[in-house]
Amino acid sequence: MGKIVAISNQKGGVGKTTTAINLSSGLSYMQKKVLLVDLDSQGNASTGLSAIKEQGQPTIYSVLFDGVNIQQAIVHLQAPSIDILPANLTLAGADLLMNEIPNKELILKNVLDPIKHLYDYIIIDCPPSLGLLNTNALSAADSVLIPVQCEYYALEGVTQLLMTIRLVQKTSNPNLKIEGLVMTMYDVRTKLSMEVCQDVRQTFEKLVYQTNISRNIKLSEAPSRGVSIFEYDINSSGAKSYGDLTKEFVKRNEGSYGE
Ligand code: ADP
Ligand code: MG
Repeated sequence: MGKIVAISNQKGGVGKTTTAINLSSGLSYMQKKVLLVDLDSQGNASTGLSAIKEQGQPTIYSVLFDGVNIQQAIVHLQAPSIDILPANLTLAGADLLMNEIPNKELILKNVLDPIKHLYDYIIIDCPPSLGLLNTNALSAADSVLIPVQCEYYALEGVTQLLMTIRLVQKTSNPNLKIEGLVMTMYDVRTKLSMEVCQDVRQTFEKLVYQTNISRNIKLSEAPSRGVSIFEYDINSSGAKSYGDLTKEFVKRNEGSYGE
């Protein structure tokens, strides 16, 4: 049975999408069957992996609100070899629409549960807000992975996210776990990165992944080519970071590197 992992932090620009794309790709290179769900109306995960092929193609919006079968909206990618449920700007109105539907927290769960068994991991790239879309992701998920940018005020927002997680645990999803925190955009040259990292580790201890994602320009270039960091530049520090993160993720989940 697949495990659903929501990548969430209501702060924008902290590395959610970069982590969603490259963790999904890393997992596929470890022979895992992966579905990446784009839950952000900016559609960055979709365009970043060239999953938008034509205008009017079915997206997650069509599945959530127009009754389109999820299999018709899923795009099968070759390199990286993952499946993706794409999103585009139409999703911007989702919070309002969801509000009108009974069991509004469970709309995403209801479309993902029937296909969960087809995958080892389902990774959800969450939007930068704590609205209903995010609640839907947390209600569908088995765990939450929280990217934290190495900068001042890194933890701003994380406290709020943790409160939201607790609320979801009390209401729609008692089994929701915290997968961990991942420090992103780590710059070895700055004292700040080191200090922020130490601070977060002191607060959250073992919940923080050992792997820090280094700041690497190649990670920001890869989406413009529509590929993950592993196809774009396998020798980059970004590829090393996400390779290590993937191994740590699999080790934490499966007790071995799966190699
Ligand atoms: P979010 O999804 O949380 O809004 P993104 O993953 O889109 O964040 O990242 C925000 C911006 O920072 C993007 O332009 C992305 O390419 C860039 N970025 C993300 N992680 C890194 C990194 N480790 N090194 C350099 N640039 C990064
Ligand atoms: Mg994003």
